[in-house]
Amino acid sequence: MKPRRFDYARPDSVAEALALLAEHGEEAKVLAGGQSLMAMLNLRLLEPTVLVDIARLAELDTIKMAGDKVEVGAAVTQNRFKDWPELSAKLPLLAKTLPFVGHFQTRNKGTVCGSVAHADPSSEIPLALATLGGEVVLRSHRGTRTMAAADFQRGMLTTARQDDELITAVRFPVQAGKRVAFREVARRHGDFAIIAVAASVESGEVVRVGIGGVADRPAVRRIIIDGPGAAKSAFEALAWELEGYDDIHASARLRRDLLRRVGPAVVEEALQCAA
Ligand SMILES: Cc1cc2nc3c(=O)[nH]c(=O)nc-3n(C[C@H](O)[C@H](O)[C@H](O)COP(=O)(O)OP(=O)(O)OC[C@H]3O[C@@H](n4cnc5c(N)ncnc54)[C@H](O)[C@@H]3O)c2cc1C
Repeated sequence: MKPRRFDYARPDSVAEALALLAEHGEEAKVLAGGQSLMAMLNLRLLEPTVLVDIARLAELDTIKMAGDKVEVGAAVTQNRFKDWPELSAKLPLLAKTLPFVGHFQTRNKGTVCGSVAHADPSSEIPLALATLGGEVVLRSHRGTRTMAAADFQRGMLTTARQDDELITAVRFPVQAGKRVAFREVARRHGDFAIIAVAASVESGEVVRVGIGGVADRPAVRRIIIDGPGAAKSAFEALAWELEGYDDIHASARLRRDLLRRVGPAVVEEALQCAA
């Protein structure tokens, strides 16, 4: 199928982009890397009358420190972030996660913020952002607000973003020296995860885990590893709590089963990981 006709706008500044979003409201869609949006236009799941292309806005193409967080602007592609020289030292979980996001070609166009905006429950970047307790920065002609990633994603492909808001950046808390692990189950490397588990050791016995692909958004929990079998019991309980869902890739039952098997292995890997 082909998309419905739309106008294409390529603003020269964030201010101009915000003015366009304010003018067109729900009729407008932000175009970043286009890796998810174009498919949705072709399938006519979305029918905007104007696309606002932000991909070439230099003021959004920055990776910088914002206090104790790494701020990634909305024009930064997934490959640029993956190849950022400080990634392994400052954000070891992202260094483990980003190679699983799509393929080299899709990462060359797809943006970090676009993945967060799209809010697929199987996506790796929103999972890592939520697991680390990151933030989403939203700007509109009305002002700027910052939301915790955990509050931003509201469900499958659903977020707290208003129609006139642009995600200008996401912020990942620096976790230098943290012990982390990430694994996913997908049909082929580069496919969306059927399930994904991230783990970051907070202190001796406390491990923060993030689970993708089982609920309608990333689920983040702290689990206490106070003896043999503690992780297994925790994931057994989580599998029932999160329930899982059926789609063309897997049944809810398979998702729960994969979570029970993969979850404890990821926690063990994080605990064994050299800091
Ligand atoms: C073959 C293939 C395999 C893929 N595999 C994976 C995978 O394994 N894991 C994964 O996570 N993703 C995967 N993807 C999706 C890909 O990573 C996309 O890059 C990502 O989901 C969206 O980023 P984008 O920059 O392309 O956004 P776009 O497609 O341009 O936009 C996606 C949505 O977000 C909105 N949006 C984008 N940026 C902003 C912003 N700054 N502010 C407000 N709204 C915004 C758009 O309006 C649109 O609704 C795959 C894609 C393809 C084509």
